Amino acid sequence: MNCGLLGEKLGHSYSPFIHKYLGDYTYSLFEISSDNLGDFLKNGDFHAVNVTIPYKQAVIPYCASLSPIAFKLGAVNILVRQDDGTLIGHNSDYFGFETLLLRSGLQVNGKKALVLGTGGAAKTAIASLQSKGANVVVISRSGENHYGNLQLHSDAAVIVNATPVGMYPHTGVSPLSLDLFPQLEGVLDAIYNPARTQLLLDAEERGLVAMNGLWMLVAQAKEASEWFTDNKIPDEQIDALYRILQKQMQNIVLIGMPGCGKTTVGKLIAEKTSKKFVDADKVILEKTGCTAGQIIKDQGEEAFRKLESQVLSELGKQSSLVIATGGGCVTREENFQYLHQNGQIFCLHRALERLSTEGRPLSQRNSLAELYRVRQPLYERFADEHIDNNGDVSQAVSKILEIWEG
Ligand code: NAP
Repeated sequence: MNCGLLGEKLGHSYSPFIHKYLGDYTYSLFEISSDNLGDFLKNGDFHAVNVTIPYKQAVIPYCASLSPIAFKLGAVNILVRQDDGTLIGHNSDYFGFETLLLRSGLQVNGKKALVLGTGGAAKTAIASLQSKGANVVVISRSGENHYGNLQLHSDAAVIVNATPVGMYPHTGVSPLSLDLFPQLEGVLDAIYNPARTQLLLDAEERGLVAMNGLWMLVAQAKEASEWFTDNKIPDEQIDALYRILQKQMQNIVLIGMPGCGKTTVGKLIAEKTSKKFVDADKVILEKTGCTAGQIIKDQGEEAFRKLESQVLSELGKQSSLVIATGGGCVTREENFQYLHQNGQIFCLHRALERLSTEGRPLSQRNSLAELYRVRQPLYERFADEHIDNNGDVSQAVSKILEIWEG
């Protein structure tokens, strides 16, 4: 059975991987220009397709019928060819958003919810939130409610980002400041790459519910697959697929004192998880032709830290890496956001007398005990998990993998 994804420019898509997991059919990427859309829909060799930007509305005139939810939203993200050759249009983004909302645990009935954006994802969120009794306000750059009068909605309990602001590779930016919303309970972001957009990092920092769009992606794909094959898929498969994708997309980040074993442990973890290993200091060496020690000696520690932050901002937003950081990366707060946006951070601990100081200028210059005294609270701030690396290195690796696999 031929299925796939229809869009204008598809680039990298997780859909082929997801559908390979969900069903027994071929899943191709159909990059079709708008001039050829009609011909593809009439004569294309496919049984069913997902539809993405910019065709979710454009395909509607080619449909013989629409499911009630596709009709209500005025957007189609699934086309299935009937025996007579005609197309039926459906929308599974709605189920996707409902799943995300349910998983977030947020109760929206009677509360104000701001939806940012007016595109397809926004329309889906609006319909779903309204069906749950939320008082929805749409924030649009050109609307009555816009980013300049957000103070009118300081009573918002929920914010949904349905804009591309903060999406890879343009990470580190947020559509709004959460300072304006003292009653806020949670933020949902339709974006899933990076795992934590700046908006979600800000929400997390405030202790609020903060969920990305991965549940939405996985749940909409499950419903799409059911439409493709006419077979029901158990909900447990959404959970399993969610976990697989989450692990595949995210980075494993190692921090800790210089000489605590980040490179050795990192290489082994990369091998076991099929992720790519990168050593931040090595990347700096490749970029500048100088070791960390040389840069610190010649230009000072501040110059080195600046370079290091640039490198971490690039590495941190990538996916599926094992990143070994330099021991002092925790001295810059901005590095936390870079590393945390798409990674789980593990701090390795090794007794000071066992730390290697060879080729490590700061460890040689300062007493290790003093360095540790200053950095210990910073490691605490950065780490999601603490790992003892005083025994055999395989024990630290196993512990990290055990936590990582959940
Ligand atoms: P879209 O149709 O292009 O709409 C995006 C909306 O965002 C626009 O209507 C616009 O609204 C607003 N916007 C665009 N650029 C902006 C900017 N620079 N600053 C502020 N607002 C901006 O896209 P979409 O299909 O709705 O998707 C929106 C986001 O949801 C994307 O990041 C997409 O990847 C994600 N998404 C995720 C899933 C999932 O399964 N997780 C599914 C669908 C979409 P105004 O002009 O009115 O401000």
